Amino acid sequence: MANIAVFAEIEDGVIHDISLQCIAKARALAGAGGKVIALAAGHGVSAPAAKMFGYGADEVFAADDAALNGYIPRRYRKVVASWLVSQSPALALFPSTTLGLDLAASVAGELKAPCALYCDDIQAADGGWRMKRIEFDRKVATQFAPAAAGTAIATLRDGAADAPVFDAARTGTVQPAQAGAVETVARVLKREVAKKTVNLKDAKIIVAGGAGVGSAENFQLLRDFAAKLGAEIGATRAVVDAGWLPADHQIGQTGATVKPAVYIACGISGAVQHRVGMMDSGKIVAINTDPNAPIFKIAHYQIVGDLKVVLPKLMKCLPG
Ligand SMILES: Cc1cc2nc3c(=O)[nH]c(=O)nc-3n(C[C@H](O)[C@H](O)[C@H](O)COP(=O)(O)OP(=O)(O)OC[C@H]3O[C@@H](n4cnc5c(N)ncnc54)[C@H](O)[C@@H]3O)c2cc1C
Repeated sequence: MANIAVFAEIEDGVIHDISLQCIAKARALAGAGGKVIALAAGHGVSAPAAKMFGYGADEVFAADDAALNGYIPRRYRKVVASWLVSQSPALALFPSTTLGLDLAASVAGELKAPCALYCDDIQAADGGWRMKRIEFDRKVATQFAPAAAGTAIATLRDGAADAPVFDAARTGTVQPAQAGAVETVARVLKREVAKKTVNLKDAKIIVAGGAGVGSAENFQLLRDFAAKLGAEIGATRAVVDAGWLPADHQIGQTGATVKPAVYIACGISGAVQHRVGMMDSGKIVAINTDPNAPIFKIAHYQIVGDLKVVLPKLMKCLPG
């Protein structure tokens, strides 16, 4: 039983999925008697922040101020640090996003609080916390325990928890958190976010292509196959770097982490940076011309062959 704080990242009025996962984890750690207290910061975040009640937060705060429009580290650090001091939770969770990682580390510096980044799991242990981080293709698992009393800080990695189901019956009043006066050293003039072209997170089936697809045009083969299966199209970094697909299709260490029921890897070697983003898929099917491709080590079904030959054959087996 403990109060757990969550810093939630809200962008364009939408709470990031990984912030919702933080709320789910906080809910589990708070137990029956503890509270989940959530904070959002930015401009115009109060209304979307209210949704956090529905996702399981007991108290919701918003530092809603034009001065917080865009991520300005000094301002955000002051706001979050002073909010944490006022709430004194046992643990504060941040999402392992670019913003969350930067903010968590700088708030920890300000508060001289223990901080563990990229946690895959956090459990209560010995009256404190045990944070776990899994790295290097699951070959290294590191556990951390905060050495100091007081608020511990951790960032949660994408996929560490399932996002909670929204309950419209859970509502509440968002409380203001003070933005405070901070000297301005930089201002965000403009921020342009590319439109999402794919929804990999919710996909039940993903057909992913790698450099072995050969060209942007050849991806039509994967699109036709995906259309028959009702699947989304994923890609390796090699594909994104080649400009064959937009960056939001990328899966792996620097892309999305996905767990579809079925992952069909076409012309993908299976580099560790790709595997970490898809290895928890329910069933993995790999198509590769190289029988020694590393992807075959984690594939449940291995097809050695040219994807340009294999995919049309597979498609013929599908109805419609
Ligand atoms: C810091 C860092 C972060 C990274 N982050 C990511 C990331 O998030 N995601 C990611 O994917 N990568 C990432 N990478 C890159 C990663 O290391 C690999 O370079 C990349 O995943 C390789 O992509 P690929 O499998 O498409 O290409 P390749 O490794 O070139 O593999 C192509 C495969 O296609 C097969 N092939 C060729 N022709 C055919 C055919 N006609 N039919 C069937 N098979 C065929 C080949 O046998 C080969 O196995 C990162 C690298 C670094 C250093």
